[in-house]
Amino acid sequence: MSQNQTVIPQEFNLPAGVRPVTGLDGIPCLELATQMTTLYWQTYGEQSRFFQALIEGRLIGAKCPQCQMVLVPPMTWNCPDCGFTDMEEVVLPHHGLLAATAPITIFPPAGQHGNAPYARGYVDVAVDVAKASFLPARLITTTGLPRPGIFVKGVKLKLVFKDEREGRITDIFWVPWDEIPEGLRDIEPLLASQLQFEDPKPPVIKRPFEEVFTAVRDLAVKAVRSPRAVENLKAVGTRRIGVWVGGGEFTLSIQNGCLEVKRVSDPGVDFVIQADDPNVFLKWANGGSLSDPAAEGSLWLPNTEAFGILPALDRVPRSVRRDEGEGKLSPES
Ligand SMILES: [Zn+2]
Repeated sequence: MSQNQTVIPQEFNLPAGVRPVTGLDGIPCLELATQMTTLYWQTYGEQSRFFQALIEGRLIGAKCPQCQMVLVPPMTWNCPDCGFTDMEEVVLPHHGLLAATAPITIFPPAGQHGNAPYARGYVDVAVDVAKASFLPARLITTTGLPRPGIFVKGVKLKLVFKDEREGRITDIFWVPWDEIPEGLRDIEPLLASQLQFEDPKPPVIKRPFEEVFTAVRDLAVKAVRSPRAVENLKAVGTRRIGVWVGGGEFTLSIQNGCLEVKRVSDPGVDFVIQADDPNVFLKWANGGSLSDPAAEGSLWLPNTEAFGILPALDRVPRSVRRDEGEGKLSPES
């Protein structure tokens, strides 16, 4: 290309301006000179080295020998802070820290159609230097879709390369370090095919009822061995209480100072007490009170007789704890 030749020759350009014209229908209009976008090859220019490195499975940045600033990607190889001094290529680690909690959008960027929800953030890879740019990053989890709580500020991330690379920023993405199996963490470059993204393991669903039932049953087992708790329960007499809580039902059977917990709701109970939140009984088993939630209303009771036995039940976990602390629990049978 000769020095004065432009991409579009001068004679192709229209004079800037607006002019009157008559349409084919004979109606006068105005038209303006404008241009049309065309298809073209765009050079990466100075950034070519960065994208070539991605193809090779490396992550590089530009480092200023004077101020030590690291640019990644290197949008320039001449430090803007030091009179455009030449910057040096620096090989960067394949891990970094998320610079800010990443937004998750249901509108993925152009070219990422179908990849919603989409998590995008900025990774601090040159953490050792005082001045560094953050690398724009696509964030992917092996645990299913991206969700709030995974890509939070400061979380450590591992750089992963697509197996097939062509020299685009989409050749790489980042996965939480904790999700990378230990044997793969030091591999550089780590390839996407080395990780398991299909069939993520579903998270464990918390089942508060099971936890509550276990705690109450454990309390009953110890209460039998606690002389103080046996005395508390003797004061109750013989009672069978149905307990209905969110998530399940059980029965408290009290007889001769002995507390028994059955998983099923016994149809022959004296009365039923209810709480939406099963944790009312977890707190009780851990030394709390049933009288308090009854007074507040989070524990429903049918009558004053039911309320009358709560003080004795309140003492049971405390008595167990005292006898346990003093070594007075009878041996396990
Ligand atoms: Zn500099």
